[in-house]
Amino acid sequence: MEKNIFVTRPLLPPLKEFIPYLENIWESQHLTNGGPYHQQLEKDLADYLGVEHLCLFSNGTLALLTAFQVLGITGEVITTPYSFVATAHSLLWNGLTPVFVDTDPDTFNLDADKLEQAITPATTAILPVHCYGIPCNTRKIEELADAYGLKVIYDAAHAFGVKQDGVSVLRQGDLSILSFHATKVFNTIEGGAIICHDAKMKQRIDYLKNFGFVNETTVVAAGINGKMNELQAAYGLLQLQHIDKALDDRGRLCRHYNRLLADIPGISPISVPDGVTWNYAYYPIIVSEDFALTRDELYELLKGNRIMARRYFYPLISSFFMYKFADSAKKENLPVAHQLADKVICLPLYPGLEEEVQHKIAGLIQLASVSPPFPAASSL
Ligand SMILES: *Cc1c(COP(=O)(O)O)cnc(C)c1O
Repeated sequence: MEKNIFVTRPLLPPLKEFIPYLENIWESQHLTNGGPYHQQLEKDLADYLGVEHLCLFSNGTLALLTAFQVLGITGEVITTPYSFVATAHSLLWNGLTPVFVDTDPDTFNLDADKLEQAITPATTAILPVHCYGIPCNTRKIEELADAYGLKVIYDAAHAFGVKQDGVSVLRQGDLSILSFHATKVFNTIEGGAIICHDAKMKQRIDYLKNFGFVNETTVVAAGINGKMNELQAAYGLLQLQHIDKALDDRGRLCRHYNRLLADIPGISPISVPDGVTWNYAYYPIIVSEDFALTRDELYELLKGNRIMARRYFYPLISSFFMYKFADSAKKENLPVAHQLADKVICLPLYPGLEEEVQHKIAGLIQLASVSPPFPAASSL
């Protein structure tokens, strides 16, 4: 195999199916500012996802930034270190103070049992992440939020289409944020959304993402430009026609990996909790002490064979310099998150991944487990 195999590849609909959309856009000359495709995609996505209201954005990070603005969040926000940096960056960009809580070893999510001890009088909100698309302990999180009067904003960037007991996880909390970046399960090249539960909130978010304009002469807030353009919205509508097949493919590929890796000591895949309809967003495996190589040795071995697996999420957000000086960022406060950051690797997973590539990957892991290619440190 000559070419590099990346951890993800964008879901690209057939080019010829996109042409008629482009012709319509050129015809109408309506390129952005809440055009017909934008309106249609908001409606169709809300229907598809089973949510009341959805506000499209030009990317997920702007959606996150706007979520804190619209709720008027101040002070401290409790979040997880085991995520993509944009999660915590959205707090710093709003002048908020992130407070990190350790990770649940089974779900990779913010550990709801360690949440209460992180609440202070300055806490106003919780920002959990449905990591890899596995739902957080939303019941416990929201019980505490209710008791302490906190807002809950879910970073649901990985959770497109995920359900718990048949209900979209995006219905939980005050707001949820999606990312439609090219690397995500559903993409609009760049893009994102805020999910909210009432029309009034949607109206306020729509003002904020358009500079605060209500009409030609009235500006009600210091808004931003977060609008999705018509080309992206059209691309999203087309993509929506292919998403079910893509999710089926992802499921089949995950089950195939599960079978291939089942008997390798020290390698364990993620376990999906009962009642969860997962979207197979990632294929993380835990490389434990029982495996012949460390996670980083396995990463290098795969890379040497042109398999570009990724260490999601390493380093932890709390290890980056703009976060690491906080008390909550100390390693003692985040033992499980540090373990996961040292032991997890995500294998390539995308619709169209060939089963023979999966065989090659599993073969390399299997072979390493019986005859490690690196001498153990003690034998050097
Ligand atoms: C991708 C991602 C984001 C950022 O979304 P963009 O659309 O790339 O701005 C935020 N949080 C998480 C957890 C992500 O994976």
